[in-house]
Amino acid sequence: MGESAHDLIGFIGIGHMGLPMTRRLLAAGYRVLAYDIAPGAAQEAVASGADAAEDVPDVGRRCRTVITMLPDSDAVDAVVRAQGLGAAMAAGTVLIDMSTAVPRRTVQLARWLGEREVGMLDAPVTGGVAGAERGSLTVMVGGPRALFDAHAPVLRALGKTIHYVGPTGTGHTIKAINNMVSATTMAVTSEALALAVKAGIDAETALAVINSGTGRSWSSEYKFPTFVLNHAFNSGFSVALMRKDVDIAVDLGQEHAVPLFVAAAAQQLYHYAVGHGLGDQCHTAIATILEEMAGIRLDGAHESIAERREGVAGR
Ligand code: NAD
Repeated sequence: MGESAHDLIGFIGIGHMGLPMTRRLLAAGYRVLAYDIAPGAAQEAVASGADAAEDVPDVGRRCRTVITMLPDSDAVDAVVRAQGLGAAMAAGTVLIDMSTAVPRRTVQLARWLGEREVGMLDAPVTGGVAGAERGSLTVMVGGPRALFDAHAPVLRALGKTIHYVGPTGTGHTIKAINNMVSATTMAVTSEALALAVKAGIDAETALAVINSGTGRSWSSEYKFPTFVLNHAFNSGFSVALMRKDVDIAVDLGQEHAVPLFVAAAAQQLYHYAVGHGLGDQCHTAIATILEEMAGIRLDGAHESIAERREGVAGR
Protein backbone atom coordinates (compact mmCIF):
# COMPACT_ATOMS: atom_id res chain seq x y z
CA MET A 1 0.00 0.00 0.00
CA GLY A 2 2.07 2.95 1.27
CA GLU A 3 5.31 4.05 -0.29
CA SER A 4 8.80 3.04 0.84
CA ALA A 5 11.68 5.49 0.86
CA HIS A 6 12.91 4.05 -2.46
CA ASP A 7 9.65 4.63 -4.29
CA LEU A 8 9.33 7.22 -7.00
CA ILE A 9 6.80 9.87 -5.95
CA GLY A 10 5.15 11.81 -8.78
CA PHE A 11 4.80 15.53 -8.13
CA ILE A 12 2.74 17.74 -10.46
CA GLY A 13 2.69 21.52 -9.94
CA ILE A 14 6.16 22.86 -9.13
CA GLY A 15 5.12 26.37 -8.07
CA HIS A 16 5.60 28.45 -4.92
CA MET A 17 4.58 25.48 -2.75
CA GLY A 18 5.43 22.55 -5.00
CA LEU A 19 9.12 23.38 -5.29
CA PRO A 20 9.91 23.48 -1.56
CA MET A 21 7.65 20.45 -0.96
CA THR A 22 9.55 18.53 -3.63
CA ARG A 23 12.79 19.44 -1.88
CA ARG A 24 11.42 18.16 1.44
CA LEU A 25 10.57 14.82 -0.15
CA LEU A 26 14.06 14.57 -1.63
CA ALA A 27 15.61 15.47 1.73
CA ALA A 28 13.52 12.69 3.35
CA GLY A 29 15.05 10.18 0.91
CA TYR A 30 12.21 9.81 -1.60
CA ARG A 31 12.89 9.88 -5.29
CA VAL A 32 10.67 12.41 -7.07
CA LEU A 33 9.40 12.59 -10.67
CA ALA A 34 8.46 16.24 -11.25
CA TYR A 35 6.19 17.84 -13.84
CA ASP A 36 4.83 21.35 -14.41
CA ILE A 37 3.03 22.72 -17.45
CA ALA A 38 5.09 25.93 -17.37
CA PRO A 39 8.28 25.46 -19.36
CA GLY A 40 11.27 25.42 -17.06
CA ALA A 41 9.26 25.33 -13.81
CA ALA A 42 10.31 21.74 -13.02
CA GLN A 43 13.96 22.57 -13.71
CA GLU A 44 14.51 23.96 -10.22
CA ALA A 45 13.24 20.69 -8.75
CA VAL A 46 15.52 18.77 -11.12
CA ALA A 47 18.45 20.91 -9.99
CA SER A 48 17.61 19.79 -6.45
CA GLY A 49 17.70 16.11 -7.43
CA ALA A 50 14.28 15.28 -8.87
CA ASP A 51 13.80 13.48 -12.20
CA ALA A 52 11.95 15.37 -14.94
CA ALA A 53 8.79 13.77 -16.34
CA GLU A 54 8.13 13.93 -20.07
CA ASP A 55 4.46 14.74 -19.58
CA VAL A 56 1.54 14.03 -17.25
CA PRO A 57 0.91 10.41 -18.40
CA ASP A 58 4.62 9.68 -17.84
CA VAL A 59 4.07 10.51 -14.14
CA GLY A 60 0.96 8.30 -14.04
CA ARG A 61 2.71 5.33 -15.63
CA ARG A 62 5.85 5.41 -13.46
CA CYS A 63 4.57 6.30 -9.98
CA ARG A 64 2.41 4.44 -7.48
CA THR A 65 1.86 7.68 -5.53
CA VAL A 66 1.23 10.99 -7.30
CA ILE A 67 0.97 14.33 -5.49
CA THR A 68 -0.71 17.32 -7.15
CA MET A 69 -0.08 20.89 -5.93
CA LEU A 70 -2.04 22.92 -8.47
CA PRO A 71 -3.84 26.28 -8.34
CA ASP A 72 -7.44 25.06 -8.20
CA SER A 73 -10.02 22.39 -9.09
CA ASP A 74 -9.95 23.36 -12.78
CA ALA A 75 -6.22 22.59 -12.94
CA VAL A 76 -6.61 19.35 -10.95
CA ASP A 77 -9.41 18.18 -13.26
CA ALA A 78 -7.34 19.16 -16.31
CA VAL A 79 -4.34 17.17 -15.12
CA VAL A 80 -6.27 14.09 -14.00
CA ARG A 81 -8.79 13.87 -16.84
CA ALA A 82 -7.84 15.94 -19.93
CA GLN A 83 -4.05 15.59 -19.60
CA GLY A 84 -4.39 11.86 -18.89
CA LEU A 85 -3.03 11.28 -15.38
CA GLY A 86 -5.98 9.17 -14.22
CA ALA A 87 -5.99 7.03 -17.36
CA ALA A 88 -2.25 6.35 -16.99
CA MET A 89 -2.36 5.38 -13.30
CA ALA A 90 -2.53 1.65 -12.56
CA ALA A 91 -5.10 0.00 -10.29
CA GLY A 92 -4.04 0.24 -6.65
CA THR A 93 -2.12 3.50 -7.06
CA VAL A 94 -3.10 6.71 -5.26
CA LEU A 95 -3.47 10.39 -6.04
CA ILE A 96 -2.84 12.78 -3.14
CA ASP A 97 -4.26 16.19 -4.05
CA MET A 98 -2.60 18.78 -1.81
CA SER A 99 -4.02 21.78 -3.72
CA THR A 100 -6.78 23.89 -2.17
CA ALA A 101 -9.81 22.79 -4.19
CA VAL A 102 -13.62 22.66 -4.25
CA PRO A 103 -14.76 19.76 -2.01
CA ARG A 104 -17.72 18.79 -4.23
CA ARG A 105 -15.42 18.48 -7.25
CA THR A 106 -12.95 16.46 -5.17
CA VAL A 107 -15.70 13.97 -4.32
CA GLN A 108 -16.61 13.70 -8.03
CA LEU A 109 -12.97 13.18 -8.99
CA ALA A 110 -12.41 10.54 -6.31
CA ARG A 111 -15.46 8.67 -7.61
CA TRP A 112 -14.15 8.84 -11.19
CA LEU A 113 -10.73 7.57 -10.08
CA GLY A 114 -12.37 4.90 -7.92
CA GLU A 115 -14.05 3.47 -11.04
CA ARG A 116 -10.47 2.88 -12.29
CA GLU A 117 -9.42 1.44 -8.90
CA VAL A 118 -7.17 4.43 -8.27
CA GLY A 119 -7.38 5.75 -4.70
CA MET A 120 -7.50 9.41 -3.73
CA LEU A 121 -6.78 11.51 -0.65
CA ASP A 122 -7.45 15.25 -0.44
CA ALA A 123 -4.61 16.58 1.69
CA PRO A 124 -4.38 20.39 1.48
CA VAL A 125 -1.93 22.29 3.64
CA THR A 126 -1.57 25.46 5.65
CA GLY A 127 1.61 27.20 6.74
CA GLY A 128 2.67 29.02 3.58
CA VAL A 129 5.87 28.88 1.58
CA ALA A 130 7.94 29.22 4.76
CA GLY A 131 6.16 26.19 6.26
CA ALA A 132 6.74 24.24 3.04
CA GLU A 133 10.46 25.07 3.14
CA ARG A 134 10.79 24.00 6.78
CA GLY A 135 8.57 20.94 6.50
CA SER A 136 6.37 22.43 9.20
CA LEU A 137 3.09 22.54 7.27
CA THR A 138 -0.19 21.47 8.79
CA VAL A 139 -1.85 18.85 6.55
CA MET A 140 -5.58 18.09 6.74
CA VAL A 141 -6.64 14.87 5.10
CA GLY A 142 -9.91 13.57 3.70
CA GLY A 143 -10.42 10.08 2.27
CA PRO A 144 -10.61 6.43 3.35
CA ARG A 145 -8.92 5.94 6.74
CA ALA A 146 -6.89 2.93 5.57
CA LEU A 147 -5.53 4.91 2.62
CA PHE A 148 -4.56 7.72 4.99
CA ASP A 149 -2.79 5.32 7.35
CA ALA A 150 -0.84 3.81 4.45
CA HIS A 151 0.32 7.20 3.16
CA ALA A 152 0.85 9.10 6.41
CA PRO A 153 4.67 8.69 6.20
CA VAL A 154 4.98 10.68 2.96
CA LEU A 155 2.73 13.38 4.43
CA ARG A 156 4.95 13.50 7.53
CA ALA A 157 7.90 14.33 5.26
CA LEU A 158 6.00 17.48 4.28
CA GLY A 159 4.18 18.55 7.42
CA LYS A 160 4.66 18.60 11.16
CA THR A 161 0.99 18.35 12.11
CA ILE A 162 -1.14 15.86 10.20
CA HIS A 163 -4.89 15.74 10.84
CA TYR A 164 -7.11 12.97 9.58
CA VAL A 165 -10.40 14.85 9.12
CA GLY A 166 -12.88 12.36 7.65
CA PRO A 167 -14.27 11.11 4.33
CA THR A 168 -13.24 12.36 0.87
CA GLY A 169 -13.64 16.14 0.51
CA THR A 170 -13.43 16.98 4.22
CA GLY A 171 -9.76 17.94 3.92
CA HIS A 172 -10.65 20.47 1.24
CA THR A 173 -13.66 21.63 3.26
CA ILE A 174 -11.70 22.44 6.42
CA LYS A 175 -8.94 24.05 4.36
CA ALA A 176 -11.43 26.53 2.85
CA ILE A 177 -12.81 27.17 6.33
CA ASN A 178 -9.32 27.82 7.72
CA ASN A 179 -8.52 30.26 4.92
CA MET A 180 -11.88 31.98 5.38
CA VAL A 181 -10.68 32.86 8.89
CA SER A 182 -7.22 33.80 7.66
CA ALA A 183 -8.58 36.02 4.86
CA THR A 184 -10.90 37.72 7.32
CA THR A 185 -8.24 38.47 9.96
CA MET A 186 -6.01 39.80 7.16
CA ALA A 187 -8.81 42.15 6.07
CA VAL A 188 -9.88 43.35 9.50
CA THR A 189 -6.29 43.88 10.67
CA SER A 190 -5.71 46.01 7.55
CA GLU A 191 -8.73 48.08 8.52
CA ALA A 192 -7.58 48.29 12.12
CA LEU A 193 -4.12 49.58 11.26
CA ALA A 194 -5.44 52.04 8.68
CA LEU A 195 -7.75 53.41 11.37
CA ALA A 196 -4.97 53.56 13.98
CA VAL A 197 -2.64 55.47 11.64
CA LYS A 198 -5.42 57.85 10.59
CA ALA A 199 -6.12 58.46 14.28
CA GLY A 200 -2.48 59.40 14.88
CA ILE A 201 -0.97 56.14 16.17
CA ASP A 202 1.98 54.75 14.26
CA ALA A 203 1.44 51.33 12.70
CA GLU A 204 4.17 49.54 14.64
CA THR A 205 2.85 50.72 18.00
CA ALA A 206 -0.71 49.77 17.02
CA LEU A 207 0.44 46.32 15.92
CA ALA A 208 2.46 45.81 19.12
CA VAL A 209 -0.64 46.55 21.20
CA ILE A 210 -2.85 44.23 19.13
CA ASN A 211 -0.24 41.48 19.34
CA SER A 212 -0.11 41.68 23.11
CA GLY A 213 -3.90 41.99 23.26
CA THR A 214 -6.96 40.00 22.35
CA GLY A 215 -7.03 41.21 18.73
CA ARG A 216 -4.05 39.14 17.69
CA SER A 217 -4.07 36.46 15.00
CA TRP A 218 -1.60 34.77 12.63
CA SER A 219 -2.17 37.73 10.32
CA SER A 220 -1.22 40.28 12.98
CA GLU A 221 1.56 38.25 14.60
CA TYR A 222 3.28 36.96 11.47
CA LYS A 223 2.03 38.48 8.22
CA PHE A 224 1.89 42.17 9.15
CA PRO A 225 5.42 42.40 10.60
CA THR A 226 6.90 40.13 7.91
CA PHE A 227 5.19 41.28 4.72
CA VAL A 228 3.06 44.40 5.27
CA LEU A 229 4.65 47.03 7.53
CA ASN A 230 7.81 46.90 5.40
CA HIS A 231 5.76 46.82 2.17
CA ALA A 232 7.66 43.68 1.11
CA PHE A 233 4.47 41.84 0.07
CA ASN A 234 6.41 38.68 -0.68
CA SER A 235 4.63 35.81 1.12
CA GLY A 236 4.40 33.76 -2.10
CA PHE A 237 0.61 33.34 -1.80
CA SER A 238 -1.37 35.45 -4.25
CA VAL A 239 -4.51 37.56 -3.90
CA ALA A 240 -6.13 35.44 -6.65
CA LEU A 241 -5.56 32.19 -4.74
CA MET A 242 -6.87 33.67 -1.49
CA ARG A 243 -9.95 34.98 -3.30
CA LYS A 244 -10.51 31.46 -4.68
CA ASP A 245 -10.37 30.07 -1.15
CA VAL A 246 -12.86 32.58 0.28
CA ASP A 247 -15.13 31.92 -2.70
CA ILE A 248 -15.03 28.19 -1.91
CA ALA A 249 -15.92 28.87 1.73
CA VAL A 250 -18.77 31.25 0.92
CA ASP A 251 -20.15 28.75 -1.62
CA LEU A 252 -20.00 26.08 1.10
CA GLY A 253 -21.98 28.41 3.36
CA GLN A 254 -24.69 28.63 0.69
CA GLU A 255 -24.64 24.88 0.11
CA HIS A 256 -25.13 24.17 3.81
CA ALA A 257 -27.39 27.18 4.52
CA VAL A 258 -24.97 28.64 7.04
CA PRO A 259 -24.81 32.46 7.02
CA LEU A 260 -21.27 33.81 6.71
CA PHE A 261 -21.78 37.56 7.18
CA VAL A 262 -18.20 38.41 8.10
CA ALA A 263 -16.52 36.17 5.54
CA ALA A 264 -18.83 37.48 2.80
CA ALA A 265 -17.76 41.05 3.61
CA ALA A 266 -14.08 40.07 3.49
CA GLN A 267 -14.72 38.27 0.20
CA GLN A 268 -15.68 41.60 -1.40
CA LEU A 269 -12.27 43.04 -0.56
CA TYR A 270 -10.47 40.18 -2.36
CA HIS A 271 -12.76 40.57 -5.39
CA TYR A 272 -12.06 44.29 -5.37
CA ALA A 273 -8.31 43.61 -5.21
CA VAL A 274 -8.45 41.23 -8.20
CA GLY A 275 -10.57 43.77 -10.09
CA HIS A 276 -7.90 46.36 -9.34
CA GLY A 277 -5.26 44.23 -11.05
CA LEU A 278 -3.67 42.92 -7.84
CA GLY A 279 -4.53 39.24 -8.48
CA ASP A 280 -0.95 38.17 -9.07
CA GLN A 281 0.38 40.16 -6.10
CA CYS A 282 0.95 38.77 -2.63
CA HIS A 283 -2.38 38.41 -0.80
CA THR A 284 -1.10 40.68 1.98
CA ALA A 285 -1.14 43.54 -0.56
CA ILE A 286 -4.87 43.90 0.15
CA ALA A 287 -3.61 46.16 2.97
CA THR A 288 -2.67 48.69 0.27
CA ILE A 289 -6.34 49.01 -0.64
CA LEU A 290 -7.14 50.06 2.91
CA GLU A 291 -4.16 52.42 2.84
CA GLU A 292 -5.54 53.96 -0.31
CA MET A 293 -9.09 54.27 1.01
CA ALA A 294 -7.90 55.80 4.28
CA GLY A 295 -5.25 57.96 2.56
CA ILE A 296 -2.45 56.68 4.79
CA ARG A 297 0.55 54.37 4.56
CA LEU A 298 1.47 51.66 7.01
CA ASP A 299 5.20 51.79 6.27
CA GLY A 300 5.54 55.43 7.27
CA ALA A 301 6.46 56.63 3.74
CA HIS A 302 4.86 59.68 2.19
CA GLU A 303 4.78 59.06 -1.57
CA SER A 304 1.47 59.64 -3.32
CA ILE A 305 -1.12 56.89 -3.70
CA ALA A 306 -0.43 56.70 -7.47
CA GLU A 307 3.30 56.29 -6.90
CA ARG A 308 2.69 53.69 -4.24
CA ARG A 309 0.35 51.73 -6.48
CA GLU A 310 2.91 51.67 -9.26
CA GLY A 311 5.41 50.29 -6.76
CA VAL A 312 3.07 47.44 -5.77
CA ALA A 313 2.19 46.66 -9.39
CA GLY A 314 5.88 46.45 -10.24
CA ARG A 315 6.51 43.68 -7.70
P1 NAD B 1 1.54 28.50 -7.96
O1 NAD B 1 0.68 29.18 -8.95
O2 NAD B 1 2.81 29.12 -7.50
O3 NAD B 1 1.91 27.02 -8.50
C1 NAD B 1 1.03 26.21 -9.20
C2 NAD B 1 1.83 25.49 -10.27
O4 NAD B 1 0.94 24.60 -10.99
C3 NAD B 1 2.43 26.44 -11.32
O5 NAD B 1 3.83 26.21 -11.42
C4 NAD B 1 1.69 26.08 -12.61
O6 NAD B 1 2.49 26.23 -13.78
C5 NAD B 1 1.31 24.65 -12.35
N1 NAD B 1 0.19 24.21 -13.17
C6 NAD B 1 -0.98 24.85 -13.40
N2 NAD B 1 -1.76 24.15 -14.22
C7 NAD B 1 -1.06 23.01 -14.52
C8 NAD B 1 -1.35 21.88 -15.33
N3 NAD B 1 -2.51 21.78 -15.98
N4 NAD B 1 -0.42 20.90 -15.43
C9 NAD B 1 0.76 21.01 -14.75
N5 NAD B 1 1.08 22.07 -13.96
C10 NAD B 1 0.17 23.05 -13.85
O7 NAD B 1 0.59 28.18 -6.71
P2 NAD B 1 1.04 27.87 -5.20
O8 NAD B 1 1.12 29.17 -4.46
O9 NAD B 1 2.18 26.92 -5.20
O10 NAD B 1 -0.28 27.13 -4.68
C11 NAD B 1 -0.61 25.81 -5.09
C12 NAD B 1 -1.84 25.37 -4.31
O11 NAD B 1 -1.54 25.38 -2.91
C13 NAD B 1 -3.05 26.29 -4.50
O12 NAD B 1 -4.21 25.51 -4.51
C14 NAD B 1 -2.99 27.19 -3.27
O13 NAD B 1 -4.26 27.70 -2.95
C15 NAD B 1 -2.45 26.24 -2.23
N6 NAD B 1 -1.70 26.84 -1.13
C16 NAD B 1 -0.76 27.83 -1.38
C17 NAD B 1 -0.05 28.37 -0.31
C18 NAD B 1 0.99 29.46 -0.52
O14 NAD B 1 1.46 30.04 0.48
N7 NAD B 1 1.40 29.77 -1.74
C19 NAD B 1 -0.27 27.91 1.00
C20 NAD B 1 -1.19 26.87 1.20
C21 NAD B 1 -1.90 26.35 0.13
